[in-house]
Amino acid sequence: MPITKTEKIWMDGALVDWDDATIHVLTHSLHYGCGVFEGIRAYPTASGPAVFRLSDHIVRLFNSAKIFLIDIPFTADELVEATKQTVAVNGLQECYIRPLVYFGYGEMGLNPLPCPVNVSIAVWPWGAYLGEEGIQRGVRMKISSWQRHAPNAMPPAAKGTGMYINSSMAKIEALKAGYDEAILLSPQGYVSECTGENLFVVRGGRIVTPPLSAGALEGITQHSVMTIAADLGFDVSFGNILRSDLYTADEAFLTGTAAEVVPIRSVDDRTVGDGEPGPMTRKLQEVYAAAVRGRDDRYKDWNEHVR
Ligand code: PMP
Repeated sequence: MPITKTEKIWMDGALVDWDDATIHVLTHSLHYGCGVFEGIRAYPTASGPAVFRLSDHIVRLFNSAKIFLIDIPFTADELVEATKQTVAVNGLQECYIRPLVYFGYGEMGLNPLPCPVNVSIAVWPWGAYLGEEGIQRGVRMKISSWQRHAPNAMPPAAKGTGMYINSSMAKIEALKAGYDEAILLSPQGYVSECTGENLFVVRGGRIVTPPLSAGALEGITQHSVMTIAADLGFDVSFGNILRSDLYTADEAFLTGTAAEVVPIRSVDDRTVGDGEPGPMTRKLQEVYAAAVRGRDDRYKDWNEHVR
């Protein structure tokens, strides 16, 4: 999806013009993929734009950095403020937000630690990641021939830039085969997650989502949806899911900041349920859409206002 240019990007403490937000070709992370990032969204609310669960995303960014021994030269509070400032200065009511932490220009070789640590925050308007039709009617999924990385190869708890080669290969494979999105299995053969979303299945009235130990990222949307599901009185838990559970599910859906809550219409050409988004999926979509826009008092703490 093309990027829509905005005015300013935050780079290492200063707001710079969009076209000036450039880096040197010998930037370390560009070569070896050791960086961490976040994907966040701001939504319009009755009291102005609010970033959804911004503090939780910044905590995850710092945890990702800790795993890779990246010493971020700002505090979490500073990055929370910088994010709000970047949304505000660009005058956006609604946008996607991409904080990135990377090893910059300094030395080459596999030890990144002597390099400076740089931080940027970019924001731009970004519509439904899997398309408006995907949200309404559901998406067609393919189980990838690529596995999710094993935890001792790449730590799934970290949102590391280089780790996404795995997701990109699975995404390309699914798109070339005519599907909308891929599902990755863990090296043990359990369902892990999608290329940039967590996955849920509903079978016999129970909602289940794979745990971190199956190679899934600890999704913030996953956590929000599990909270909402529990508040609705639904039976929701972490649990291992088999490939065949997907084929025989009553409902299935995926969750992510960019994608939001998206029904799954089929998996490997097996129709999920009757092929229409199921009632639990619809209800969770509806409450999530209200929560992010500050229209549900139970979840007001998740709306972090920009001004
Ligand atoms: N899994 C992967 C691999 C992701 O990239 C993302 C997006 N950050 C997610 C799951 C969903 O996480 P979140 O709900 O926090 O956006």
